[in-house]
Amino acid sequence: MDFFQDEGLNRLRERMRADELGHFELFDPARQLTYAEREALDSGMLNTGSQTLRILKDKTLAFKNTRIWLCHDQDYHLAYCQKVQSLRHHQESLQIGTGTFPSNRNEGVCLECLAVLQYQGVDARRLRRAEFSEPIREQFSLEAFKQDYPFYPII
Ligand SMILES: [Zn+2]
Repeated sequence: MDFFQDEGLNRLRERMRADELGHFELFDPARQLTYAEREALDSGMLNTGSQTLRILKDKTLAFKNTRIWLCHDQDYHLAYCQKVQSLRHHQESLQIGTGTFPSNRNEGVCLECLAVLQYQGVDARRLRRAEFSEPIREQFSLEAFKQDYPFYPII
């Protein structure tokens, strides 16, 4: 059901806006995470249709009003790299999450994604050299990443 198409709710919303005594924001499940979705994202993974994946201006990935990581073949993507572009177009459903990587392997982070973001000076040229790319993966911290790119909530 689309809340914005519902006559009764629209009238209700108008009435609430007219009320000067208080601000009241309607929860919009099309754009805001439900409690169940937050739980699923945080504790593991959520399967979602690829059309629901959002690409933010900074090239990070989002679902509704949270940034997310996307898991595919044990790789964890944080940005719109070429792999994610192809998954988005060829895969019907995507596995996404917000908590620590389920396998707890920071080495699973996709370096292409970090290069897209130029995260901590990572760029495509350096990635071709193994002596650079291995330590980057080992030292990657999702917690630190979230300080630069807060996950939830985003607008
Ligand atoms: Zn990637």
